[in-house]
Amino acid sequence: MSRQALDQLKQQIPLLDYLQAHCWKPARQLSRGRLMGLCPLHSDHKPSFLVNPLKSLFYCYGCGRGGDVIRFAELYHQVKFPQALSLLRQWRGLAPLLQEAASFYHLQLHRHTEAVTYLYQRGIHSAEVVEHMRIGYAPGGCLRSWLTQLGYPPASLRETGLVTANGYDTYMHRVIIPLESNLYGRSISPSAPPHRFLPGAKGGLYAWEQAHQYPEVILVEGLFDYATLWQAGFRNVTCAMGNQLNAHQHRQLSDRPRTVYLAFDADSNGSGQQAARSLACRLRDHGVNALTVSLPSGQDPNSFFVQDGDARQFQSLLEAAR
Ligand SMILES: [Zn+2]
Repeated sequence: MSRQALDQLKQQIPLLDYLQAHCWKPARQLSRGRLMGLCPLHSDHKPSFLVNPLKSLFYCYGCGRGGDVIRFAELYHQVKFPQALSLLRQWRGLAPLLQEAASFYHLQLHRHTEAVTYLYQRGIHSAEVVEHMRIGYAPGGCLRSWLTQLGYPPASLRETGLVTANGYDTYMHRVIIPLESNLYGRSISPSAPPHRFLPGAKGGLYAWEQAHQYPEVILVEGLFDYATLWQAGFRNVTCAMGNQLNAHQHRQLSDRPRTVYLAFDADSNGSGQQAARSLACRLRDHGVNALTVSLPSGQDPNSFFVQDGDARQFQSLLEAAR
């Protein structure tokens, strides 16, 4: 990549936009528009991360690291320079398009009874949680024409993975949940693979911006587990989208001393419990008080609530966690 192309990429992705899209918030403003906040690169307790939005540069007084948006992407995602460039290019293309697609899918939800019925079956019935998570529905066969009408070129639709190489909508008959830089699609039809993501990273922990302020956090595997817990009144909940954490999610959970309840699926083959136990060990090595929650056999937090479990009963499971 030429010097010129690098400069262009940096111009197109202001550091502050990129930081905010990754849930960074300034704690205070300094002179000349500079901002100070908690460092997303190390366990920071008092704001030591300085951002100069005019120059698109950062410097951390805590861990001593600094640079431009490319350097930030390298450190944040723990990748090498070329990979950081491709993540940034992908993010640049994805961000506005994904927003547009998420809004479109969100509008479709209430136009399709099969989607609402599916949510009910999965125990999701409050409008509040649907709004909070911006849950949507992909009927299939209509996103491409909508985005094309808005002027997005076919090539970028394919690049994001929203549209297949043959020009069809990728997501069809799926409940859609937007993530920080991806869209999760849950099939409502039993014949299709249940879980899908668009190409690219799943990103950090779900809704971490809200959950991280609590001294005790509940970690679940699936977004429907998250939805039912949130609906039941648990706000200190987050989701890894699977039972294996990526490096970034691991760093988020252990960014300060806290208690983490691992409420993974009680699979009949024991894989969820096994994953929870090994994750608990790794988190304890990082000073986290990690406790594993035992759900009734064959259940996950979502099915626990669907099968008439309530917040008080789930609370007792948390208290019994060890
Ligand atoms: Zn730092």
